[in-house]
Amino acid sequence: MILALAGGVGGAKLAQGLAMVLPSEKLTVVVNTGDDFEHLGLSISPDLDTVLYTLAGLNDTARGWGLAGETWAFMDAMERLGGETWFRLGDKDLATHVERTRRLKTESLSTVIDDFRKRLGIGCRIAPMSDDPVRTVVQTQQGRLPFQDYFVRLQCAPEVRGFEFSGIASAKPSAGFIAALDAPDLEAVIICPSNPFVSVSPILGLPGVKERLAKRKVPIVAVSPIIGGEAVKGPAAKMFKELGLAVTQESVAGFYGDLLDGFVIDERDANSAARITGPRVKVAQTLMRDTEAKAALARQVLDFSGTLRS
Ligand code: GDP
Ligand code: CA
Repeated sequence: MILALAGGVGGAKLAQGLAMVLPSEKLTVVVNTGDDFEHLGLSISPDLDTVLYTLAGLNDTARGWGLAGETWAFMDAMERLGGETWFRLGDKDLATHVERTRRLKTESLSTVIDDFRKRLGIGCRIAPMSDDPVRTVVQTQQGRLPFQDYFVRLQCAPEVRGFEFSGIASAKPSAGFIAALDAPDLEAVIICPSNPFVSVSPILGLPGVKERLAKRKVPIVAVSPIIGGEAVKGPAAKMFKELGLAVTQESVAGFYGDLLDGFVIDERDANSAARITGPRVKVAQTLMRDTEAKAALARQVLDFSGTLRS
């Protein structure tokens, strides 16, 4: 069994690759819920939805988020009424939020997501990191900002000073997450190329997760979200800079520290391999432009983690 830890876009790309090359019963994808929020009366889980839509092949690859073939009648009508439109909710996407919100009155997020993924034809397990609310707060020059205010409304413009994960101390890893961490047949943990600060940190920061990982003698392998000193998408590189860190593979490896047994970096950064101390380094083509590239990288990551097994 392979446990993949994922945020949204970058995480979903590698998760889709893993889902293509592994039998579905051998993969569990655990997803960040620190980005979740309540908006227009709806419970929104951006990273879970990105993973669901991507693994179902329903995602909009051009826009980079949401569903393909989306329409915006709801947003247009909202705008006419003077309602809030800074967070875009497409008409089809809206069904996900309305149905999730209704079901959360009597069911856990885990149960709802498990049912959604089955209905969308996804074979592997997908679990939220927790069923308890964890809310990322970005500490910026302009003060503390709820994650979606920072990320969507202010388009990551405020300078970052640090992060808080409100609620994390009393949040429990979800049953699906614990089952994967404790699975007798667990072979490896793959940290997808997601934003280390706001997508992976909340997952690893849940009480007991690092302790459980340390007890398991399975390789932990991260794929870097940084390529050639830049993020493929999103604020990861900007965050490294604003926190006073160089945007290098050494910084990404340093962020994860001794948690990692293996670290996968892009061909463009091959010369930084020698400067990384700690994890074994694998150089690969890590830019996932299409499904073939996702599957190819997934295969390489799995082969690499196989060589790290003692
Ligand atoms: P978000 O929650 O939607 O922001 O997505 P994630 O946190 O899962 O992923 C964001 C990170 O994915 C960014 O730092 C990107 O650099 C990285 N990323 C996106 N696409 C790719 C890719 O094809 N290859 C690699 N290596 N990283 C990627
Ligand atoms: Ca996210």
